[in-house]
Amino acid sequence: MKWSFRIATVAGIEVRIHVTFLLILGVFALLFAHDGGLEAAVFGTLFFLALFLCVVLHEFGHAFAARVYGIRTPDITLYLIGGVARLERMPTSPWHELVIALAGPAVNVAIAGFLWIAVVRGYTFADLFDPRMDEDFWSGLLRINVFLVLFNMIPAFPMDGGRVVRALLATRLPYATATMIAARIGQVLAVAFVVASFTELASPMLLVIGMFVFMGAQQELNFARLRQSAQSVRVADAMLGRFEVLPDDIRVGELTPRLITSNQEVFVFADEDMLYRGLALRDELVQGIRQLPPEALAHPLSRNVPPIRPNTSMDEVLEMMQKSQEPCLPVVNGSGQVVGLVGVDQMQELARLAKRH
Ligand SMILES: [Zn+2]
Repeated sequence: MKWSFRIATVAGIEVRIHVTFLLILGVFALLFAHDGGLEAAVFGTLFFLALFLCVVLHEFGHAFAARVYGIRTPDITLYLIGGVARLERMPTSPWHELVIALAGPAVNVAIAGFLWIAVVRGYTFADLFDPRMDEDFWSGLLRINVFLVLFNMIPAFPMDGGRVVRALLATRLPYATATMIAARIGQVLAVAFVVASFTELASPMLLVIGMFVFMGAQQELNFARLRQSAQSVRVADAMLGRFEVLPDDIRVGELTPRLITSNQEVFVFADEDMLYRGLALRDELVQGIRQLPPEALAHPLSRNVPPIRPNTSMDEVLEMMQKSQEPCLPVVNGSGQVVGLVGVDQMQELARLAKRH
């Protein structure tokens, strides 16, 4: 979530803007100014902000639908290419995923419908392709909402249409298989876009969309493969079993030699019986060394990251890591003793192995 700024919080959801989004706003304003001076620049900027609002509302459509199924959305971020509502977890039922995926475009259908009835009367479908309509603010906004619906319903990841295809397939097939088929459909479409961009259509936009869709599908495919191979692996078989433990009565002054002699990024605190007492990242300990006196106890620098059991499957771990945004989780046995660590490194290794399949 680097390079993004919070601009508002609505219904407990942070709305964030990524710098790339501000860049495109600047480019738009300059383009309009170049074409028609100050007035055009103001018009262009206002139009862009209205478009921005429509994209935000689209993302809120996803977020509110997710909330119906008990899934929280911590934030919505606007990037150069559009918005992303970050759901706390994936919906468990394909029907829920279907509703959540459709709720975004449904918002734009509603906006377009409202504009058509209330503001831009007598607008026909053919007018959508008439470039002269650009000059009018409201019909331009109507057009852009229709475009948002069509674009988002392209049946390919990372568009909503790709999720719709996956959800429909997942009502009959295992989730990972459904994802793989949906991702492959997306890639075939992406290639078709790229090929079409070299025909008479010759639209550079098609080329960009094609490449964007291809990469999105590849990412989703890799993630599905990772999840599938993660399902069959238990934490006990994947975890890091040899790791540095800090006693819970260690002083801040004693931390430095421990940090220097270890290359771990995460440290577990435990008492003399190895009972789990908390977890701290290297950076958090380094900060503590700077801020606290050497005789202070180091344990308060740790956080009580919820531990997991050795027999948990790795795809559950993946979900927990996404939910907690923790790079590493402690593994604790039945009596509460720390027996391992599992985190990003182990996931990357799994992903590397999954790609070979
Ligand atoms: Zn969407």
